[in-house]
Amino acid sequence: MAEATPIRPLPAASVETWHREADVVIAGYGIAGVCAAIEAARAGAEVLVLERTSGWGGAAALAGGFIYLGGGTPLQKALGFEDTPENMKAFMMAALGPGADEEKITDYCNGSVDHYNWLVDNGVPFKESFYGEPGWETPFDDGLMYSGGENAAPFKEVATPAPRGHVPQMTGKRTGEKGGGYMLMKPLVETAEQLGVVAEYDMRVQRLVVDETGRVVGIVAKQYGTELAIRARKGVVLATGSFAYNDEMVQQYAPRLIGRPGAAIEEHDGRAVRMAQALGADLAHMDATEVAFFGDPQLMVRGILVNGRGQRYVNEDTYPGRIGQETLLRNENQAYLIIDEAAYEEGCAATSSTPFFRFPPKWAAETVEELESDMGLPAGTLQTTVEVYNRHAENGEDPVLGKREQFVKPIGLPVAALDLRGCTAGFTLGGLRTSLDSEVLHVSGEPIPGLFAAGRCTAGVCAGGYASGTSLGDGSFYGRRAGIAAAKG
Ligand SMILES: Cc1cc2nc3c(=O)[nH]c(=O)nc-3n(C[C@H](O)[C@H](O)[C@H](O)COP(=O)(O)OP(=O)(O)OC[C@H]3O[C@@H](n4cnc5c(N)ncnc54)[C@H](O)[C@@H]3O)c2cc1C
Repeated sequence: MAEATPIRPLPAASVETWHREADVVIAGYGIAGVCAAIEAARAGAEVLVLERTSGWGGAAALAGGFIYLGGGTPLQKALGFEDTPENMKAFMMAALGPGADEEKITDYCNGSVDHYNWLVDNGVPFKESFYGEPGWETPFDDGLMYSGGENAAPFKEVATPAPRGHVPQMTGKRTGEKGGGYMLMKPLVETAEQLGVVAEYDMRVQRLVVDETGRVVGIVAKQYGTELAIRARKGVVLATGSFAYNDEMVQQYAPRLIGRPGAAIEEHDGRAVRMAQALGADLAHMDATEVAFFGDPQLMVRGILVNGRGQRYVNEDTYPGRIGQETLLRNENQAYLIIDEAAYEEGCAATSSTPFFRFPPKWAAETVEELESDMGLPAGTLQTTVEVYNRHAENGEDPVLGKREQFVKPIGLPVAALDLRGCTAGFTLGGLRTSLDSEVLHVSGEPIPGLFAAGRCTAGVCAGGYASGTSLGDGSFYGRRAGIAAAKG
């Protein structure tokens, strides 16, 4: 069957005119692309970045800006937190699996302090201040926060808790529009420009060009309706983001996300994954997803979350992305927040980066029995859950799910329930399988010559689980590797 827009690689012999050329050609000017560009240019390569939109930034510039770094970064140390690469690895292996890539995580943790220093050296500012409140992000310009449930059950028993969500400092943040991620991208793009990196905008990468030996030697891109052949003398780097907005691929690989893409941009259409697949590239963790949950952590922590059977299923003081995964992937996307009036009012008065996630209760009642009945839950289910929770909460304990003592308080009366069913969205974490040098691996396990990739079009450090900062983290870390390796040719 003929392909509508050809995705199979184009033989180099059939290219009549090379419209542009450079040593290293990078597809996508988000976080992975800019880091690849900087390192390739520093290694002496002539670098051309092809970006589909009319400006740099990608999802990265909209992002909250957490970069997952640790192992004893200067910022962690300055703020009094102890961490080692081994400790960081223990957390990441437990929280990002099952199936997390141990080799990659070990490499990432060992290189994390150096990567922090590299970001700082390239102009990314981090303020020496720690934000310790429950939250999706810091509402201020603090530089460090827990961003993966490191200090909550079950992970606090696996590794010594250390905050690793490093956030570039900026004022005038607008959640989801211009966050810390903008202040990550801006100085890096300026650095790239100073190094002579050239960017071409409105240029949509379509397919790879391959020579008779199987080496990737260029890219075909479309600009204003015209197809252009662009030659890469040393290497091509794919850095075009996830496949969260490709409905067909989501249906095929990560069906839990059907109809609910989030924390991504429409340009994340999986094209790079398909282009490389057409060349025999291997994939990994295609079913893995980040899951955002539209609940305000300042409220969630003050109540109990129950599923469609009226049972608690996650400790409410953990990373909200973990709550999202537990809800969507393991509890049929059914969630209610049970909270008493006093706790609701206290939570609403607390400072939060996500006040828009503070929904009014759908049901309110004088007794738990009445609430349970109003919610349509089977008689006795919610009552039993609250009775067991309260019995232990009287002693400041949560033996069922391990919520920390400071957040454990009996649920009083009157009591209400927020309807949080279906309140999830997310992006895909799977993609091309790559080596530690960001070479795209063929299904045979061998690198595909001339082809490199980084960011969310690859399977990075996350497999099943997620921690905020791992996308900008592995995108920047392995973006650099891709640039270095591609410049070597
Ligand atoms: C609101 C929001 C908050 C987030 N918060 C965080 C956070 O705090 N920490 C974290 O780690 N992650 C966060 N993320 C996710 C993170 O931003 C992305 O996963 C990350 O930017 C992926 O990096 P990337 O380089 O692969 O893609 P991007 O940064 O999106 O860059 C990809 C670029 O490729 C371009 N492109 C796509 N297709 C083509 C094509 N065919 N040809 C040419 N160019 C193309 C895109 O236009 C884009 O500019 C957030 C995302 C959003 C939207």
